[in-house]
Amino acid sequence: MRHRLPTAQARLLSPSGAAPKGQVNAVLPLAALALIFICLVCGCQSGVPAGKTAGGQRKSARPAAGEPAPAGAAPMPEPSRRPIAGRTVILDAGHGGDDFGASHHGLREKDICLDLALRTAAILRAKGVTVHLTRQTDVFIPLPDRSAFANRHPGAILVSIHVNASDRNAAAAGIETYVLDQGIKDAEREKTAAGRYQVRGSDSLPSSATLASLTTKSRKDGPALAGAIQKQLVGRLAVPDRGVRSKNLAVLRETYFCPAVLVEVGFLTHVRTAAEMKTDAWRRRTAEGLAEGVADFLRQPAGS
Ligand SMILES: [Zn+2]
Repeated sequence: MRHRLPTAQARLLSPSGAAPKGQVNAVLPLAALALIFICLVCGCQSGVPAGKTAGGQRKSARPAAGEPAPAGAAPMPEPSRRPIAGRTVILDAGHGGDDFGASHHGLREKDICLDLALRTAAILRAKGVTVHLTRQTDVFIPLPDRSAFANRHPGAILVSIHVNASDRNAAAAGIETYVLDQGIKDAEREKTAAGRYQVRGSDSLPSSATLASLTTKSRKDGPALAGAIQKQLVGRLAVPDRGVRSKNLAVLRETYFCPAVLVEVGFLTHVRTAAEMKTDAWRRRTAEGLAEGVADFLRQPAGS
């Protein structure tokens, strides 16, 4: 599909790399050695500016990763990173069955979407994440059923995987990730959600108030999730960054209780991209990008 609507670029704070002032002292060489050791061991990202985490939150009194711990103190876990094991992710392979999606250069969108969803699921499951797939085979799933599936898992996240195409511009290339149009009113979605899912009085679901707050949160968290995925994919595939965009897409609009994004992982109509999409290497890198983007989002502090 073509995407020419106004964009809503997700703004991710990037670490400045500036060293905190006031901590340079006589033990700096030792502290530097300790810092290098910590980074080699845990693989953390150093360079987060003092007072902020990579997600922009205020830090606690505990030293953040990359800052030397007080002399004699045991290393403290980084407060800004949440564990991802046990969290729930829903992967939605676009199209399926009679709905091929785009078809070009001997490739069908539905096949690539399913392959990427299965590969991404395997990577996330290896990290301890609970993954549900809207489809695991070549079957057609109506859009409302995809959202309904996600809505049965309040507090999870939904990533819908698609492949782009442009019939008019064979040179179109790159990756873009969609979030729900931020102009859509939360109150309207909450009303629809409450009516459709009859959440009031249910013992098996959270209270309607909780679900209403999840509806708002699902919209607010969308750009952060989309930005994390976009950043990982663009970095790994070295393709044009078409950014995080917003659109009133049904699968996003009707997913009420989870942050939801739709990723267009590349253009089937682009000759070189299509050739890459046929390779195991491209599919592996793309699945890794999707999984790491999801993991980056899940690690962000609660309430961010
Ligand atoms: Zn599609």
